[in-house]
Amino acid sequence: MSNISNVDANTLYKLSYGLYVISAKDGGKDNGCIINTACQVTNSPIRISVAVNKQNYTNDMIRKTGVFNLSVLSEDAPFSVFEHFGFKSGKDTDKYEGRSPKRTANGVVYESEYCCAVISAKVISETDLGTHTLYIADVTEAFTLNDSRPQTYAYYFENVKPKPQAKIEESKGYVCKICGYVYEGEPLPDDFICPWCKHGAEDFEKIV
Ligand code: FE
Repeated sequence: MSNISNVDANTLYKLSYGLYVISAKDGGKDNGCIINTACQVTNSPIRISVAVNKQNYTNDMIRKTGVFNLSVLSEDAPFSVFEHFGFKSGKDTDKYEGRSPKRTANGVVYESEYCCAVISAKVISETDLGTHTLYIADVTEAFTLNDSRPQTYAYYFENVKPKPQAKIEESKGYVCKICGYVYEGEPLPDDFICPWCKHGAEDFEKIV
């Protein structure tokens, strides 16, 4: 959390982001999680950057193998997709159990439903950012799945994330602005991490 009084953290919500399933493969294990931090950084060669929370098992797999896919979520992706990939850990669940996901040439799974494009990438450098690892990666394959519009973070907040239930409004505590998880207690510890989406205390707001 910033201690600088002239930094209003909500200002950062004015930056525009997309939403992605980032997936990786380690041996026979497939896994993926949700990120909003992907962008193209150079055109020649075509390179992207992604930042992945270190608490995500997918991050361990990318650090080990140096290879990942981005599936670009489209506006029709429902909240259940975010729950499935974003609010569970691949450490204790198999997110691909009972599914037959498609794979790109690098062998990594991708999402063909609720997505409009797929990008495969190979890591060329990584930087430890504390909570996250920042990767710079060369794009090795890229294709469009359909003409649906990519889902932005703003679209997710306005149209996809469920509106607070009456039950939440009656409870006392703090609600996660990202996923809606409710912490019932006072105060919210400064080092609290949302058990669903892994965002920190700075992304919680007091229920009033
Ligand atoms: Fe959350």
